[in-house]
Amino acid sequence: MIYHNSVRLAENFYCYVWQGKGNNCHAVLLPSVLRGERPHVLIDPGHVRNELGETCFDSLTQAMERNGFKVDDIGLVIGTHSHPDHIEAVELVVEKSGALFALSREEDEFYRTMGKMFFQAFGGKPPQVNPFFYLKEGDLSLGAKDNKVAIRVLFTPGHSPGSISLYLEEEKMLISGDVVFAGSVGRTDFPGGSPSLLRKSIDELSQLDVEYLVPGHSTEMGNIIAGQDKVRRNFYTVKMVF
Ligand SMILES: [Zn+2]
Repeated sequence: MIYHNSVRLAENFYCYVWQGKGNNCHAVLLPSVLRGERPHVLIDPGHVRNELGETCFDSLTQAMERNGFKVDDIGLVIGTHSHPDHIEAVELVVEKSGALFALSREEDEFYRTMGKMFFQAFGGKPPQVNPFFYLKEGDLSLGAKDNKVAIRVLFTPGHSPGSISLYLEEEKMLISGDVVFAGSVGRTDFPGGSPSLLRKSIDELSQLDVEYLVPGHSTEMGNIIAGQDKVRRNFYTVKMVF
């Protein structure tokens, strides 16, 4: 069963929009951007299986295969933050592909302490995988010489203590994790959440020039927000309401 709808937003940018009934995040695949045998970058693989028993990771695998991409060919997997619905499947990705795993140092520290307990509280098994490197605020340059992808890593805590967002400046794409959604913002009542930090993070993101806002989840108001005006209006609205 495939619960992901694949949306290609640019040549090297696929969004796998979660459409199951239970909870899971949207995943983003940047195919063929790394040098070497495993050239794909996957952001937020999501759950292995969610609270309704939907086979989230199998679904993502199949949706990717439909587009001609294999999990085995992932060289890097990035977590925007360490919540189960974003990184539970990291262990499987790493097992299958030998991919490197990256998240922020702050989030890793949180994961090792409170984050793992959070997984268990939700009845999940925390993935046994250590980050290969930490994502720091600033530019992360990936890819071969003729196919460079510059990703700006933004430190956007509030929903989780070490949440990051990813901004592709050239394509004007913003992957916001659980910081901001269509008409809504990330919860701050989970361990390590902070409303004031979240507000500050949203403020920072709202300064960017964004054509596509790719949030971590859908809301009643939608999923991917396309068009600078709509993105601007969304930031305006959420800043007023939250
Ligand atoms: Zn989350």
